[in-house]
Amino acid sequence: MTEPTVETEPTAARSFALRTRASVDVFTRILTHGPIGRIGIGRAVGLSQAAVTKAVAPLIRDGFVHEDIATQRGLAPGRPVYPLSVVPMSLLVIGVKVNPGEVIGVATTMTADVLHTAHRAVVDNSVAAVVEAVAALTVELQVALGTQADRVAGIGVSVSGDVDSANGVVRDSPLLGWEGVRLRALLEDRIDLPILIDNDVRALTIAEQWFGVGVDVDSFAIATIGSGIGSGIYLNGDVVAGSHGVAGEIGHLPLASEDLICTCGRRGCVEAEASSGAILAAVRRDTGLPDLTMQQAVDLAHGGDPAATRAFDRAGTVIGSAIAALANLVGPAIILVTGEGVVDYDLFERRIREAFAAHAFGAAARCLIVTRAHTFDDWARGAAASVIRAVVRQAVPVRNR
Ligand SMILES: [Zn+2]
Repeated sequence: MTEPTVETEPTAARSFALRTRASVDVFTRILTHGPIGRIGIGRAVGLSQAAVTKAVAPLIRDGFVHEDIATQRGLAPGRPVYPLSVVPMSLLVIGVKVNPGEVIGVATTMTADVLHTAHRAVVDNSVAAVVEAVAALTVELQVALGTQADRVAGIGVSVSGDVDSANGVVRDSPLLGWEGVRLRALLEDRIDLPILIDNDVRALTIAEQWFGVGVDVDSFAIATIGSGIGSGIYLNGDVVAGSHGVAGEIGHLPLASEDLICTCGRRGCVEAEASSGAILAAVRRDTGLPDLTMQQAVDLAHGGDPAATRAFDRAGTVIGSAIAALANLVGPAIILVTGEGVVDYDLFERRIREAFAAHAFGAAARCLIVTRAHTFDDWARGAAASVIRAVVRQAVPVRNR
């Protein structure tokens, strides 16, 4: 088994079955580009209009795709256009992000629109406490969904670090202090739904590929800044997962001072200088104020305090160099800089752009840098997008069907 497993449950979600590769491609195109006509779909996925119609017919019949017959009125005479779109409420998913000290969950539609959000504190980061919290959060979201809870097709759980999605194992998560945790198996004992475990940044990249900046470009990357620093890469039509499950770990590029020790145990990592924890530690050390909060450090920097400003400048320079390395290696059309650290992006921006300009090689510098603040809920939505993609792809009857 090499693919993440999501099997259908004996619920409303069961009737969703994409039985051929063509129907997977057609449904995916409608999901990511709808409302869209059959000609547009056929052109995009390389099928005749008749083949598109054949693939779409059962999806319309079973209520997963809506055909907007009304919009043909008023159009020019000739070939009628019936735009197709996915019925958002036809299938639902739950996405959960595991953070140190907290789990955050969202219930979303098939089109990744958030319906309900739930947060739960975790006393410690022990595996047992997190499993308990994810189970409780799932029940809370199912209750919030009420009678629609039987439409939930699966749960995506995202965790930072080295995650073996195919086997549902968190191999190494320094932020949580976890190694070799069989998270999917543990959750399956508590939750009666298909479960997908994924790396958090990879999940966020899937959300952007299907529902965000990646919809109409052939390559993009996202760089996340905040408590951790990472990147997700979309290339040649798919999110890069890495042959061994690791890819895009710009937080562990050795671009910072060798004197700094990273949470991963290595020296000189980008994260050791530029994660929010590393910045706070530097400001505390250089101001001699050991009890400073992150918000106070941000306020000091905004007020022009030299020690605080220096810490954010150094972080911005290292992040900009890492983003340039990403552009030089992959050459994406767009790099989306996001993460909770982007809330205070003004403190980094100049140094990030300077370092990027200094290190981006040749035409790689044409890469568009876009910034967007996001919340922890967006991470949970990423986990939801990851399971949406798995539901769509795994519905192909390749195993035991
Ligand atoms: Zn590291």
